[in-house]
Amino acid sequence: MKYRKGFVANSSSSSFTCNVCGEIYDDYDSTYKDLCVVECTSNHIICDGHLLEPTKKTLKAMTRRHFSGKQVRPEVVLKAYTEIDELEDYQCEEYMVEKLLTSNRVRTRIPGCICPICQFDVIEDREFRQYLMKEHKIYPDMIKKEIKKKFHSYSQFYRYIWYNR
Ligand SMILES: [Zn+2]
Ligand SMILES: [Zn+2]
Repeated sequence: MKYRKGFVANSSSSSFTCNVCGEIYDDYDSTYKDLCVVECTSNHIICDGHLLEPTKKTLKAMTRRHFSGKQVRPEVVLKAYTEIDELEDYQCEEYMVEKLLTSNRVRTRIPGCICPICQFDVIEDREFRQYLMKEHKIYPDMIKKEIKKKFHSYSQFYRYIWYNR
């Protein structure tokens, strides 16, 4: 299921959370750039800091995105590509931050190869739950029953799951 979690234009009631850390953003007059947030092509919205290190190939894809729909002379694109080719690997991230994340056009369509959710480095809770049901047939009702049987009180349960006491 794909859906947009935030950024409905001119909406006064929309806020969104980072799909990785849960940080809540409710400053809807700001752009992704102002908030230091990006959205990947699968609509995961994440803080800049969670992005994975880009390869040169990824930087070029982002560059294409940056120029797409604009009247740009071929030399300009070629110059950007040459600049990327000349980077050392350790400079790729810095290049992304300084040259590409300055563009909201780039920020709204980040390639999946640098999104930690698309790369399965992070799994969202609801997708984790859904996968457990689908693949392992573990359903909330079963678990609720088990918990009711096992614990006398919520505080006992809480201590068990968070502190293992
Ligand atoms: Zn975050
Ligand atoms: Zn993603």
